[in-house]
Amino acid sequence: MFLRVRRPRSQLAMTSSVVAQVFDGPGQPFRPEQYPLPTPGPGERIVAIRCATLCGSDVHTVEGRRHEPTPAILGHEGIGEVIAAGTGVEHDLGRRVTWTLADSCGQCRFCQQLDLPQKCDDLFKYGHASLTDGTGLNGTYASHVLLRRGTHVVDVPATISDAVAAPANCALATAAAAIDVLPDGVDRILVQGAGLLGLYAAALLRHRGVKSVWCCDPLKKRRQQVASWDVTAIHPEDVGKIDECDAVLEMSGYAPAVADGVQVLRIGGTYVFVGMVHPDSHLPLTGEQVIRKSLRLQGVHNYAPRHLNQAVDFLAELGQDDRLENLVSPPRPLAELSQAFEEARSQAWLRVAVAPDACL
Ligand SMILES: [Zn+2]
Ligand SMILES: [Zn+2]
Repeated sequence: MFLRVRRPRSQLAMTSSVVAQVFDGPGQPFRPEQYPLPTPGPGERIVAIRCATLCGSDVHTVEGRRHEPTPAILGHEGIGEVIAAGTGVEHDLGRRVTWTLADSCGQCRFCQQLDLPQKCDDLFKYGHASLTDGTGLNGTYASHVLLRRGTHVVDVPATISDAVAAPANCALATAAAAIDVLPDGVDRILVQGAGLLGLYAAALLRHRGVKSVWCCDPLKKRRQQVASWDVTAIHPEDVGKIDECDAVLEMSGYAPAVADGVQVLRIGGTYVFVGMVHPDSHLPLTGEQVIRKSLRLQGVHNYAPRHLNQAVDFLAELGQDDRLENLVSPPRPLAELSQAFEEARSQAWLRVAVAPDACL
């Protein structure tokens, strides 16, 4: 097997070991561990993490509202540098990259015929797998992650900072996937929820020239943030004042909001479900409403590789932008992961960042 190793920028990455914060289950402190740096197999890359961000789904896991196999290295959002590459992907060595949340086979009908590689028969998702799965280096709350052979890797231009790039492979790429399912010609769109997913979607829609974009959220700070993207930010109580939309994107995770969204949809409009990835999501909606309004309902879960390309393109087109920088906290050292989760729960930032070699 051909293997090249290049001198990495990160001090931690220069060691021959991996430092990780292991999750043993809700209510238990993260456990620091060291592992030997593995040798990548064909098509695999080892990435030294430069920055990782705490997704809401990880907060749910740590709080016990979502169940993952343990022990595990959580974390799926991140950016890093390829420090070792196996046969076939040697050209990635030394690149500063982001990667798809999931590893897909490229062969099954979901991958080849249905344009749903995120539902691959042989799907693997980073940050959601046990230490016993593969090398165990499956998450970004570590100094290194091992990227499997079917993972789509995208170069991150130097103009995009680590903090801005880190959440791109989750919230921003998912926002791009949600927009991808909209019919052509929609120019009046309501985004429900101004968390990171909703903010990205609203900003991306305006960036692509959609004329009228509303975004509703009960939190004033979030409305202020999304308003800086030339989006009309409103309180959810005022959604009924909108004079018909072509499409509504559900990005709040809050099922009762569907009633308001459906009310403002025009006849023949499209409702896209993205945020309610939890069982407490029974819809306040009748079949009759869907039929009489001739609505199109669409679910979007995760994304395909092209959506990650679109996410990085969007960030590259914006260049250095304080509005993006201000969404993410200054990175804490990885060793302070528990404190980082406390900070994430405080909702002071849309994303809290950790970095293996961060200094506060
Ligand atoms: Zn995420
Ligand atoms: Zn597949």
